[in-house]
Amino acid sequence: MQFIDLAAQQRRIKGKIDARIQTVLEHGKYIMGPEVKELEDSFAQYVGSKHALACASGTDALLLALMAFDVRPGDAIFTTPFTFISTAEVVSLLGAVPIFVDIDQATFNIDPAQLELALKAVNENNPSIYPLPKVRTSSPEQTQTLRLNPKGIIAVDLFGLPADYDRLNAMAQRENLFVIEDAAQSFGARYRGKMACSLTQMGCTSFFPAKPLGCYGDGGMCFTSDDGLLELLASLRIHGKGHHKYDNVRIGINGRLDTLQAAILLAKFDIFPEEVELRQQVARRYHERLADLANEVATPTVPPDCVSAWAQYSLMAKDAATRQALQNRLKQAAIPSAVYYPLPLHLQGAFSYLGYKEGDFPVSEDCAQRIFSLPMHPYLEEQDQETITKVLLAPDSKA
Ligand SMILES: *Cc1c(COP(=O)(O)O)cnc(C)c1O
Repeated sequence: MQFIDLAAQQRRIKGKIDARIQTVLEHGKYIMGPEVKELEDSFAQYVGSKHALACASGTDALLLALMAFDVRPGDAIFTTPFTFISTAEVVSLLGAVPIFVDIDQATFNIDPAQLELALKAVNENNPSIYPLPKVRTSSPEQTQTLRLNPKGIIAVDLFGLPADYDRLNAMAQRENLFVIEDAAQSFGARYRGKMACSLTQMGCTSFFPAKPLGCYGDGGMCFTSDDGLLELLASLRIHGKGHHKYDNVRIGINGRLDTLQAAILLAKFDIFPEEVELRQQVARRYHERLADLANEVATPTVPPDCVSAWAQYSLMAKDAATRQALQNRLKQAAIPSAVYYPLPLHLQGAFSYLGYKEGDFPVSEDCAQRIFSLPMHPYLEEQDQETITKVLLAPDSKA
């Protein structure tokens, strides 16, 4: 059994993928070929955003977005520690400071109430209100908390479920902050009638193979309905170009999506909306079958008015030992499972320079101890799900 079965998907659309690749091989425009524009147009339409800009990865999408918002050293960017490293890595890469905000245990997404406290703590430069990073100035002797400039929020749609954007956007507007939607896991999801990637001024997604919509390599995309931001993104993506490639008006990156990856995504997109529906069925079946295991694990909840893209189907075991026992049992039955994420970002070595400590974000830390994910993809057969849930429900679990 596979955690994510990309081969099953490929069998359905092999002919289309081959034909799309063949077209690229014939026209030979491997960089910024016509498929890139075609992809941007159809994906912008799909998510209901005015513009889309394809790029080399989800990480580059986030980096380009921060650069378009002119994020620089001393800026404070609020985000969650319970996410993949990229979300906060790009903040540090630009010399800005990630301000971690704990998550809501029910959704695994940034908790607006905690964000309110973190905003107050930064505005008043008072870490007794909420844990703040102990950022040092360039001289190592100085250890006082720097006065930071609150600039933006990166909310993550973890496991495919959109964060609470009505509340986040309202807070951001009040505080004059931008909001970036890290939709790397939520392409295809919905929030109150709108598609993921279109829920703030700037949505960023990833086409890493294991994401809800993946290419056969690295890829990503930014979405915005702001003409000015689109223009900046387009320049930053190609070395800060001005009127042409050899007119460089700002510092940018080489952040293009390969034409071949765009071609593959176009072939896969034909069946993507159907795959999002299939993921709903898979999630529903897990949900029903695992109801009997309610004393051991909690199944994921989707708030009303939301549709998850189900990048992961994640369970919360009642404690760390129960998770270990259940994962062991799955392993013995040759069923893969995974832990996203075993260590929250504030405890990662890469962010030790921020001076956060254990206990700063208790919900994230608790989730890291108890969470685990089951196989999830559109082609997971009912029989396989039966096997998985039987193993989880086996009576020897009480031993
Ligand atoms: C995968 C992921 C990214 C990064 O995407 P890449 O395409 O791998 O660079 C960023 N944020 C989150 C939440 C992700 O899951």
